[in-house]
Amino acid sequence: MTLRNLGFYLRGRLSRGVSRLANARAAPLTAVPLDAALRAAGAPLPLVPLLEGRSNAEREAAVAAYLELRGVPFVRHRFTTFEGAGENFGVDVGRGDRLLVLVAHHDAVPGSPGANDNAAAVAILLTLIERLAAAPPSRLRVRFLFTAAEESGYLGARAYVADTPLDRVLGVLSLELCGIGDSVAVWDAGVETPFLAAVCRALGGLGLAADADYHVVGRIPVFGSDHRAFAAAGMPAYGLTAVPRREADALRSFVFNPVRSALTHLVRRPPPFDTYHTRRDARETLDASALDLVIAALGAIAAELE
Ligand SMILES: [Zn+2]
Repeated sequence: MTLRNLGFYLRGRLSRGVSRLANARAAPLTAVPLDAALRAAGAPLPLVPLLEGRSNAEREAAVAAYLELRGVPFVRHRFTTFEGAGENFGVDVGRGDRLLVLVAHHDAVPGSPGANDNAAAVAILLTLIERLAAAPPSRLRVRFLFTAAEESGYLGARAYVADTPLDRVLGVLSLELCGIGDSVAVWDAGVETPFLAAVCRALGGLGLAADADYHVVGRIPVFGSDHRAFAAAGMPAYGLTAVPRREADALRSFVFNPVRSALTHLVRRPPPFDTYHTRRDARETLDASALDLVIAALGAIAAELE
């Protein structure tokens, strides 16, 4: 095990341990019946209950059940290591060997319904699959990757990167906390790359203004997501999150101050972090407009890369 992998692993253990303790005294989670959740389609917010409030095994099975029910061809990638086990699912839409990878993890921390983290992102990608499949790009393949065990130090993504040939990847975006907010942040994006430039052109093309409607931010110290497994293998890979505009300054100081971030229960956490990894991360806190904004952004990025 490399030192970097050990770091990912320990971070995941710590984060899950803290959540387990913090959420231990809360009432058990509840979920809507799976067959009702499976019938939702057409927009992302009604799809959030597909995962919300379920165990990680149920969340994983729900993604596969959704794809099977709709006849969407997908590739299963099962992994088992001493750190844990799970199954990633990949769906390709479009043609050619140039690849855009969009990632959303399907697991959640113990005791949290996991609506914004990360059922919203899964719902966004499931919706986008359907929309993009109606007019698939001919010179770009978009890979929708639903990963397991992100909360265990990006384990699913690391296993995927280790097992999968990924030589024509233009870029990777990992969606996190995409259900609250009216602007978009692309993060861990400290270095200019052709992919980052294309992302910014796409967002600008949607009429979004830099530093107002969208933000590009550098490496964030404490938080991370699956893109880091791809970045560690040399690919341009960033996190993508919806952010409430009025909280932009508070968020900046929150995420760039690791000590304060670590003491999360002692400080006021700005939205969307006030529900992050807690029992309160439920779909009632999400805005349909945030999910729609992220779908529009991803659609524009795919079109720009094509
Ligand atoms: Zn997450």
